[in-house]
Amino acid sequence: MKRRAAVSRAVERRAVKRRAVKCGFPEGFSLPRAGGVCQGGRVTRDELLHALANLRRARIGEVRAPHKPLLLLWLLGRFAATGSSEVAYGEAEGPVSRMINAYGPPVKNASDARRRAAMPFVHLERELWELRDAHGRPVAHTVAESGPRLREQGATGRLAPDVERLLADPGTLAAATRLLVDLHFTPALEPLILADARLDPAVLEEAGYVRTTVRRRPRRAGFSEQVLDAYGRACAMCGYDGALGGRSVGLEAAHVRWHSQNGPDELGNALALCELHHALFDLGALGLTDDLRVRVSRHYTARSTAGRAVADLEGRPLAAPQDGGPTPAPVFVAWHGEQVFKDGQLLAA
Ligand SMILES: [Zn+2]
Repeated sequence: MKRRAAVSRAVERRAVKRRAVKCGFPEGFSLPRAGGVCQGGRVTRDELLHALANLRRARIGEVRAPHKPLLLLWLLGRFAATGSSEVAYGEAEGPVSRMINAYGPPVKNASDARRRAAMPFVHLERELWELRDAHGRPVAHTVAESGPRLREQGATGRLAPDVERLLADPGTLAAATRLLVDLHFTPALEPLILADARLDPAVLEEAGYVRTTVRRRPRRAGFSEQVLDAYGRACAMCGYDGALGGRSVGLEAAHVRWHSQNGPDELGNALALCELHHALFDLGALGLTDDLRVRVSRHYTARSTAGRAVADLEGRPLAAPQDGGPTPAPVFVAWHGEQVFKDGQLLAA
């Protein structure tokens, strides 16, 4: 009798493990009961956040893949504004592709740039996302990532009912937003991404827009101050050194390879930058050459003298740390050049 019970517990443990793996949860993550995100049971907030933190992605070398997180952030904004995440591909294609072009790695040609939303629209986990054609039939994630094809089919997606139920709680929506931004981007981009997703920071703040329980790599204490001191409390690109009452203002420690993308908190991966140049550097409007001069993306434009001052940085040598400390290492400069800098890509209109 005892033995039979033990066998049945072992069978149950294996079944739970299979379900967990199928649902994309890491091994060892325990589902509280049969069901879970992938079987239509009542999912908990923690399970949802865990699923969002473990989106499957095709990893090609070190290429960033923020496509699904950006589609999700846009859907969160849509849900917050309208109470429903339902959207036809044709409606999502423009705004989501623009976000991927702005915050994702560079793309090679204009037609790809216009249709980048197709990839996450097709591949977003079915545990989170229901995709149907014009006749209400499910669209498989094996279908081609083709914008015209999705339009032709009348493909319409919607976050799963369980996911929408949880997101109706403003605290959960704020936590989901925080998690996606923290895991895939860099703080300087946060206000821009929220604005594009039509997520109001003030509303999120009120709902408890705080760090989530999902573990992220901690930042090293004292890193920012060390970087600002090393660069003499001035922007390494423009020399801005404003202070108020003796405290630097508008000056930040920037990672060359983003912290969220495994960039270390080291001087060899850092620069002191003014807020403007930090944001433009994280957006890929500004970059670095191998011999540590400033590059300006050919897609950067400005009408005013102040705006054109950014373009005038082209070719200017970066300031070096005053104490002879390390300058940005080639491996991190190369990462930024490949993953962030907008070099020659044609942006979607
Ligand atoms: Zn600057």
